[in-house]
Amino acid sequence: MVGTIGLLALQGDFPSHEEVLAARGQGTRRVTRPDHLEGLTGLVLPGGESTTMLRLLHSEGMLAPLRRCLDTGLPVLATCAGLILLAREVHSPDQESLGVLDLAVDRNGYGRQVHSGVHPLSGRNGFPDCEGVFIRAPRIRATGPGLEVLATWAGDPALVRRGPILAATFHPELSDAHPAMDLFLHLVGPGP
Ligand code: GLN
Repeated sequence: MVGTIGLLALQGDFPSHEEVLAARGQGTRRVTRPDHLEGLTGLVLPGGESTTMLRLLHSEGMLAPLRRCLDTGLPVLATCAGLILLAREVHSPDQESLGVLDLAVDRNGYGRQVHSGVHPLSGRNGFPDCEGVFIRAPRIRATGPGLEVLATWAGDPALVRRGPILAATFHPELSDAHPAMDLFLHLVGPGP
């Protein structure tokens, strides 16, 4: 029996994650209400537009339930706007965030479209070199000591981990196969 990976589906790039996870034999559930967070084996916070996601998290009453869920030790894959939601500090412009990961980030930190594209990532701490698809990506400006940097691009952290929480400034779901997705599924495990 496979578990169920939740996909925050208020806005953004969740259908691509859904496709990739289905192709890997994973059960998924679109999360649009607090009760959808129950009984998950993993959670994806996709890319998209973090300001809109934040507004919808507020209006759907999902902010506190999401915070509680993130505290349970559930494996999480946050990509791009998802990483912005989890950051401790968000700048350019300043924005509220959940403060789950000890990092400071500039939204669209590489310019709006100029640096969208596929770029080589340098792996660290046992993580392999690979590619990263960047789309109006946030730029990580500072990381705290509790965060492990697993990959960098142009010297900036691009994939970070704290325990079961992985966060990428790029989009692993848009590469044919990506070691960040493998690592996430490894953390999720075989299910109940
Ligand atoms: N620039 C977007 C934001 O600030 C994130 C881009 C993405 O998720 N691809 O929310």
